[in-house]
Amino acid sequence: MKPLDRFYESLDLVVVDRPPVIPQATYCVAGWLGLDLRRPAYDAKLMADSLIEGLRRAGYEGVYVGWEASFNILAEALGAVLEETEGGLPRVSRPILRDVDDVDGLPLPDPWLDGRMPIHLEAIERVCKAIKGEVPVLSYVPGPLTLSTLLLGSSRTFRYLYFEPDKLRKLMESVCRASISFAKAKIESGCDVIVVADPMSSMVKPGIFEEYISPYIDRILEAVNRDAVPSLHICGNTSKILASIGKLKIEIFEVDTPVDLSYARSILKDICVMGNVSTTLLKLGRPNDIEREVVECIRKAGLRGYIVSSGCEVPYTTPIENVKAMVDSTLKIERKM
Ligand SMILES: [Zn+2]
Repeated sequence: MKPLDRFYESLDLVVVDRPPVIPQATYCVAGWLGLDLRRPAYDAKLMADSLIEGLRRAGYEGVYVGWEASFNILAEALGAVLEETEGGLPRVSRPILRDVDDVDGLPLPDPWLDGRMPIHLEAIERVCKAIKGEVPVLSYVPGPLTLSTLLLGSSRTFRYLYFEPDKLRKLMESVCRASISFAKAKIESGCDVIVVADPMSSMVKPGIFEEYISPYIDRILEAVNRDAVPSLHICGNTSKILASIGKLKIEIFEVDTPVDLSYARSILKDICVMGNVSTTLLKLGRPNDIEREVVECIRKAGLRGYIVSSGCEVPYTTPIENVKAMVDSTLKIERKM
């Protein structure tokens, strides 16, 4: 079975011979190729060539196109100043909004012109030219809460969220519009799967998530679901909000390691789940440890609606042997069947 067919069958919740294997591997390939992190973040061709080379060398079955957090890219396009970090990738230095009312002056960025969004769109086009139709091309867009915290500051955003949540609505609407326009440009560039990434969402109470966050996540998903596969990534322990996540208009949920995969499977019956292999193990473990973990994940999730992946972004210094072990142990399942 072709990797792309197996991927779509998994989304359709058909029982497959073995799950697809698609680690969230972006900038970890830099280490494999002896590159620093910074240069490809500013060079579409180098970013695309590196991502394709990573796929070819490790043998996984899908490519995430991007090189750093999508919320950084969008915050920069909205006017945030980025500062250098020791690791090589820039980060937002300080919030650009002093208060929620300042959102009225926030522009709607043009993904084809502003900041480094065009670099990411060109990288998607280049990757698609090389591998479209062979394996799926995935890319992240910012979730509403996480982008809001970058623009307004985490402590102020959370204070509003818990004491005056309705005052955040205008900001959430504004960041949704920006995220949707980035997502649509990514689809136009050839992207198959749009993954809304909202890591901050695992830090809010379930009632707050359900009432004040999930409607905005859904707004982004609804805007893309006719032209791309809608997916959601929330890092950390999402066990308490899984029931709300199950009501969202997603076809995939990327489950991080702190969530028990059997539990996620039992709650998200009609959604393909993806992930769960520990990124710490991938970075520091041995190939044997990775194999054991992959087999355990497949045992818990089953052969219907599951994609083997890392719980989150594969870290920069992860050895390629460990990612290959993830791929090989998934392929072995097929041979055993
Ligand atoms: Zn994550």
